[in-house]
Amino acid sequence: MKSVLVLGAGLQGICTAYYLSKHGLDVTLIERNEGPALEASKGNGGYLQAEFPEIWNAPGIVSVLAKAWRASLGSKRHEAAMLVDTKELLRLVPWGLRFLRSANTQSFLDNTLTNRLLAQYSLEQMAELRAHTGIAYDHAQQGALFVFRDTQSMDVYRPMLDHLEKRGGCFEFLDQKQLLALEPVLQPIGEQLCGAIRYQNDASGNSYLFAQSLLDLAIVNGVRVKYGAPVLNILKQAQKICVQVKDEVLEANSLVIAAGVESKLLAQNLGIKLHIAPVKGYSLTIPLGDWHNRPSHVIADMGVHAGVTVLGDVLRVAGTAEFCGYDYALPDERIEYLLKLTEQILPDFAATMDRTKISPFAGLRPLSADGMPFIGRSQFANVFINTGHGGLGWTQAAGSGRALADLIAGVKPGIDLTPFAPTRSV
Ligand SMILES: Cc1cc2nc3c(=O)[nH]c(=O)nc-3n(C[C@H](O)[C@H](O)[C@H](O)COP(=O)(O)OP(=O)(O)OC[C@H]3O[C@@H](n4cnc5c(N)ncnc54)[C@H](O)[C@@H]3O)c2cc1C
Repeated sequence: MKSVLVLGAGLQGICTAYYLSKHGLDVTLIERNEGPALEASKGNGGYLQAEFPEIWNAPGIVSVLAKAWRASLGSKRHEAAMLVDTKELLRLVPWGLRFLRSANTQSFLDNTLTNRLLAQYSLEQMAELRAHTGIAYDHAQQGALFVFRDTQSMDVYRPMLDHLEKRGGCFEFLDQKQLLALEPVLQPIGEQLCGAIRYQNDASGNSYLFAQSLLDLAIVNGVRVKYGAPVLNILKQAQKICVQVKDEVLEANSLVIAAGVESKLLAQNLGIKLHIAPVKGYSLTIPLGDWHNRPSHVIADMGVHAGVTVLGDVLRVAGTAEFCGYDYALPDERIEYLLKLTEQILPDFAATMDRTKISPFAGLRPLSADGMPFIGRSQFANVFINTGHGGLGWTQAAGSGRALADLIAGVKPGIDLTPFAPTRSV
């Protein structure tokens, strides 16, 4: 039987392992932590952003990055939505030049709409999983609102969304009155809002619950998991892959690198170049308690650059983007900043929430230079990649795992993986 080693038990590794096991392959999942999905996949925004999964390489991003760099030098750095550390600048240059090359209107639209195909495919896979396995992860199909505090920022979207409309996209622009009628929880800040874009079909769910449950199903299918097993070295031979973890060497016919931000370093071992950068984000998970005036949509506040999502009995508040290298720290100042954002978006809730029960989180998004993930075969026949999803890794996980597993098993994937090829020129 064909054997596969999958590196990393985050969303991408788990989804890949699960779908490989459905093909009856012999799968071992290798994870450095003592449990699954404890890094980026644990505390993300929970938003399944499938209608318009925007890449970050938007036209005009240069001035946003310059502002973020200036903010990182100032005394109020902990109150900035985006930061670029000076000490990271040099290291970011090769990735950054590629990132900026895709920051033009054409690439932005092309790559966003290509991401959309994968995101929609992914949501189809999740629906199939729910139907066939009963997997529960606080899934809600409530739609999303991108709310704006100035009309200029909202108007930027009008020409872009014309392209989405041509692809059959489902969205509507709302003025202030329509927005507040639809989402009364925003009444306290209504005067500050000018309108919103509503993506009716978008959804949300708890990725940590999903990852844990899907892994349980994979284990039932025969997947073996090695925890506390940091990969130290990878050796590739013509028909065989050897992976050294702590005190043992594991062998298989094929390898999947799905180790989030660390994938770049692991791939380098084999001479594979992956243009990804770690981009740190934070979230708070706050019990909703007996607060009943809950948001009925995922709300992304484009004025303060943060999102709030109800996940079962908790509110997830997520935001910020820090180009700060492989820094996993969770400083108090950033937790305070997210608390302030919560007050700015949902002041009524913030006044009543129990601050002693808040769980803060920091994670590193693996962001590819052109905004699209790397999924597929590397330059080596038996080495595969599944990473680089940036801020869309929850949305695209099931689809990425399914398509890659099909490819490895020799079955035609349900989505064309050519645009996501790890060997593409970025
Ligand atoms: C604050 C925040 C908010 C976000 N919000 C959203 C959202 O709303 N919607 C959305 O779609 N996406 C969102 N994302 C993005 C999404 O969470 C990520 O893209 C996704 O979790 C990445 O999954 P992954 O499996 O690639 O990486 P990870 O979850 O980081 O998993 C990689 C795994 O590999 C393991 N590993 C690494 N190196 C080694 C090694 N040497 N040996 C063994 N194991 C190793 C790690 O321990 C880890 O478990 C958000 C991310 C963040 C941080």
